[in-house]
Amino acid sequence: MAMIMAVNAGSSSIKFQLLEMPEEKVIASGVMERIGLEEGIFTLKYDGKKEETHPVLPTHAEGVQLLLDTLVAKNICKLSEIAGVGHRVVQGGEYFKDSAFATEENIEKVLELADLAPLHNKAHVVGIRAFQKVLPNVPQVLVFDTTFHQTMLDEAYMYATPYEWYEKYGIRKYGAHGTSHQYVSHRCAELMGMPLEDTKIIVCHLGNGASISAVKGGKCIDTSMGLTPLEGIPMGTRSGNIDPTALEVVAKHENKSISELIQILNKKSGLYGMSGISNDARDVTAGMNRGEYRCKMAFAVQSKRIMDYIGSYYVYLGGCDAICFTAGMGENLCHLREKICNRLGVLGVKIDTEINNKTFGTETLISTPDSKIKVYVLPTNEEVMIARDVMRIAKI
Ligand code: ADP
Repeated sequence: MAMIMAVNAGSSSIKFQLLEMPEEKVIASGVMERIGLEEGIFTLKYDGKKEETHPVLPTHAEGVQLLLDTLVAKNICKLSEIAGVGHRVVQGGEYFKDSAFATEENIEKVLELADLAPLHNKAHVVGIRAFQKVLPNVPQVLVFDTTFHQTMLDEAYMYATPYEWYEKYGIRKYGAHGTSHQYVSHRCAELMGMPLEDTKIIVCHLGNGASISAVKGGKCIDTSMGLTPLEGIPMGTRSGNIDPTALEVVAKHENKSISELIQILNKKSGLYGMSGISNDARDVTAGMNRGEYRCKMAFAVQSKRIMDYIGSYYVYLGGCDAICFTAGMGENLCHLREKICNRLGVLGVKIDTEINNKTFGTETLISTPDSKIKVYVLPTNEEVMIARDVMRIAKI
């Protein structure tokens, strides 16, 4: 039996899912949080149970050791059954057109790319090192958020900035959420019963981070996130696209540095900044239902910008077979889907409002039979994609 551990390591947390492959069955999942702080939180789900403990987790390595000891002690798996570990890595730059083993050379490249993903890449490497230390003989594979977007043409990924910026510093669009866009678009082709090569699909991954992709014949041809996840549509706390001159104006008035302002665009903008209430769509929905202007406006702005991308991708794809909604908001926020789809009526999109209002996080066709474009709610599964890639790369 092969078990694969899919890992998403952050600076103070490790999310994990243990899957039995090739059955793709989730055996256990959870997260270790507050690593390096006085008291950690270890949440473990298995066998329909959810357990939370509060161990001290001085470093990632101690967290990983505790995780594996716990899995063994609870008879969830034997160490010898873990055949591979897959690590989510946000930024693979132009180096990685596919997932790859976590060799020293590849880890060096991940660190080299840290400039382009300051919040993520260094933390991923800490996680990779922790697993290497505790499971030295198990293959470790890097699965990048960016590889699925590496098929974009230069016309889609280049910025109209001085060419030297690209040559010297790698300034271009890389995108993110690639494993999700790949999973959802390929699954959508299966659900439609169409050969993948013939499909034109728009994927709206709307979570706390949100991005939209145009996928033609199973390959990404454009995506809304850019050099970093900041570009594109407004998200939970990220602004998405703005005119960079705004930074100069605010910097002058508030005496702030570029880094501080970028931090505000990443952490204090989006639904949070517009509504003034929360980054969580449920709270903003409650505000909207109370009739609060800023909450209504926040969703209006977000859905308008989502439509802008869908319209543009419809043209760039040369038509569209299906639009898929995924991730926390995409799977659960029926009022946002309805707002977007109603405006897409001009493209022949029609949804069944009753089905749409009842659909929460299950694979569901929400368009009517006479809709020119199929619309799906399609839960994403990044962990399965990571586990599949570990099996493929490590030839398990
Ligand atoms: P990420 O993985 O980017 O952190 P998720 O895909 O988990 O984000 O999505 C999180 C967001 O999804 C939350 O901020 C919340 O706004 C929204 N969300 C999750 N569940 C629901 C729900 N039942 N109804 C409405 N919105 C939801």
